[in-house]
Amino acid sequence: MGLRGGIDLGGTKIQAVVVDAEHAVLASARLPTPESGGPPAVVAQMAAAVREAAAGARVDSRDLDGVGVGAPGTFDNGNLANAPNLSGWRDPYPLAATLGEALGCEVRLGNDVQVATDAEFQLGAAREFDSVLGVFWGTGVGGGLVLGGKPWLGRGSAGEIGHVVVRRDGARCPCGRRGCMEAYAGRAAMEARARKLQHDGEHTTLFEIMETRGRERLTSGVWARALRAEDAMAVKLMARAVAALGAGVASAQNLLDVEAVIIGGGLGIRLGDPYVARIAAAMQPHLFLDGKPPAVRLAALGDLGGAVGAALLVAD
Ligand SMILES: [Zn+2]
Repeated sequence: MGLRGGIDLGGTKIQAVVVDAEHAVLASARLPTPESGGPPAVVAQMAAAVREAAAGARVDSRDLDGVGVGAPGTFDNGNLANAPNLSGWRDPYPLAATLGEALGCEVRLGNDVQVATDAEFQLGAAREFDSVLGVFWGTGVGGGLVLGGKPWLGRGSAGEIGHVVVRRDGARCPCGRRGCMEAYAGRAAMEARARKLQHDGEHTTLFEIMETRGRERLTSGVWARALRAEDAMAVKLMARAVAALGAGVASAQNLLDVEAVIIGGGLGIRLGDPYVARIAAAMQPHLFLDGKPPAVRLAALGDLGGAVGAALLVAD
């Protein structure tokens, strides 16, 4: 039948899709990522998400050609280790074998951000280009690379654009180092900064909006609302984030000279084209080849891009 499954395994949600031979999404399912129970609980939830999507496509998971998984962390032989956003997932766990057994089909693993970049390269906003930098702006800032038509993985960890240094001895990054782009532009770091400023007496509606919306974190939707309401702190922190993205992405461009930069991720997709234009403008003063900037575009596959990209792991 040529149907494949894809899973985007995130720290807060598990997004599953079933796609056909043309990569069209036939059905999707989204479940929360378990916060306890370790890898077995997460794998059980991943299987449930695929079964739900498969049911939506009127097939059994055993009939799928395979399921691809885009996950954070490090991979070795079907094992996933060091996934910082998944509770209790430090040691290698046989994700491919366990999930494959639960679903009755083959499972392949890939890096979450790299498969999302591959999806934009093969099916989305970067189709006509040969070299692409994907920038996924969300809780953290992830990056993926396609150079000369092929994914560039380095020794397995390439693309960590969130940790390019935009300011020596600058703000503390969630990674523990200082001055990384993510320390200014990652949603987690921005929230930490907002909490500190509020604690120090600065006014903001960010946390009221969060509570009204029944959230426990400053989600992309909370930021978007605060920005629409011209909340001064949200505007200030977002300007700081955009400036950091401009410096960091332009520095990567000076090194790689790619044809296109694709902006995705929860914040990127939520804030959309106006912010893609702002990031492109913030890059401009830092571009060495300032007369020939790369195309800077919004990710075209939206929220499902990671899961659709994961399904590509099976197509190859
Ligand atoms: Zn860092």
